[in-house]
Amino acid sequence: MALEMMEQNCLICNHPHTVGINVLEKRICLKCEQEIVETDWNDPKYDEYVASLKKLWLGSQISYDK
Ligand SMILES: [Zn+2]
Repeated sequence: MALEMMEQNCLICNHPHTVGINVLEKRICLKCEQEIVETDWNDPKYDEYVASLKKLWLGSQISYDK
């Protein structure tokens, strides 16, 4: 069985990754996903993450329940 891993740039860190979660055609690597999860909501970095993600969510009709 061949697993085809497409390399894509992460939406957050902008580094190419073959694994990660895909949101529409964008990718968020596992490391960034982990960082988002672990970032405190009042950390300035969190705002950056949210802003990046919001751009995606606003551009789609996907609702994210979490
Ligand atoms: Zn990343």
